[in-house]
Amino acid sequence: MKIVKITDASQIPSEYTDTPIAELIEYQNLGKELHTCHSARLLIGMCMDNRKQLRIPENFAYILRTGGANLRNSEFKVSYAIVIGEVKHIALIAHNNCGMINLASKKAQFIQGLCKMPAGAGKELKSIS
Ligand SMILES: [Zn+2]
Repeated sequence: MKIVKITDASQIPSEYTDTPIAELIEYQNLGKELHTCHSARLLIGMCMDNRKQLRIPENFAYILRTGGANLRNSEFKVSYAIVIGEVKHIALIAHNNCGMINLASKKAQFIQGLCKMPAGAGKELKSIS
């Protein structure tokens, strides 16, 4: 797959013409004016990485944020967006320098981090949700 930087509407691949995918590119890359949508037109799968934000209108898309934009184990949510939300397009957004790549190499660091957590830290996490 070739990555192409889109800086002009003429660069949007023709297969996306008149689709929510083209709109997503226009909002995100080209600064299209944001209008509130009546219903979601798109399902976006993207990484949970806090450095990544979308510039899209309110109510434009269902958004599933997971580690590495991996939608495995999100079957119900994807199905819901398609069946109940009636979206017909899915955009899977990847990014470079993803911290979720090669997780196996971070196993020891992860376990050490969990062990350093103070007693009762889990109670704080429960009170947030
Ligand atoms: Zn990532």
